[in-house]
Amino acid sequence: MLILPVLFLLAGCTSSTPASVEESSQHPLEASSVMSSADSFSIAYITGKFDPLVHPAFTTIQPEHANQSGLRLRADAYAAFVEMYTAALKDGVTLRIISATRNFDRQKQIWEKKWTGQTLVEGGINLTEAEPDPVLRAKRILRYSSMPGTSRHHWGTDIDLNHLENDWFARGEGLKIYTWLAEHASSFGFCQPYSPKGEDRPFGYEEEKWHWSWMPVARSLTQQAATLLKDEDVRGFLGDQTAVDIGVVEHYILGVSSLCK
Ligand SMILES: [Zn+2]
Repeated sequence: MLILPVLFLLAGCTSSTPASVEESSQHPLEASSVMSSADSFSIAYITGKFDPLVHPAFTTIQPEHANQSGLRLRADAYAAFVEMYTAALKDGVTLRIISATRNFDRQKQIWEKKWTGQTLVEGGINLTEAEPDPVLRAKRILRYSSMPGTSRHHWGTDIDLNHLENDWFARGEGLKIYTWLAEHASSFGFCQPYSPKGEDRPFGYEEEKWHWSWMPVARSLTQQAATLLKDEDVRGFLGDQTAVDIGVVEHYILGVSSLCK
């Protein structure tokens, strides 16, 4: 789920990824000593209705790990990232966080700008003109952006790395980074939830090679969202009446790689 206007530059490239990279990403997450399946979260937390600037579980990402100042993550997820960052650097790979926690209010801004045509979606499209039907308009936004209340970026466990285009990860430095992540990220508890669409993942967002989840906590959050959150609870933004028709909990929150459940 993107926050930047470069969105409309995105192009799918699942067919351009070498098979070896995809195959190497299929090994299961390794058991981790930091698993904490007993974590329990409120609906307010799951839906991002809190301020990550003041939440005690959160910390600020250091400048050397990000492309901008002030990004926030859960401290446990960030500690795991720093370990991964250090290991990657030893292998000549520089990981850079370009987006981290976004709460409900931030996601509402992103969503409503697309809903009202203030932000153009991929292809330079103004959705108020191209998609007058509310459900179709919502589904168009949902190719890459979450409905407020349903984003994994609410949780403080999820990061976007290096670049927001799949094509960038298909060659050169991007391919080197993606290949490293596919081989090693699971050792640090990270998983790519938005894997290629297909039999394993028939629903949800398009593939995002840049989006990684820290599973020791994100797994609990996914499971609790599945049981606690109802489509009718996803509301408080323009177009929220479409959440029930779309089945946003089943088709998007749960529309993740089987490795990330
Ligand atoms: Zn993301």
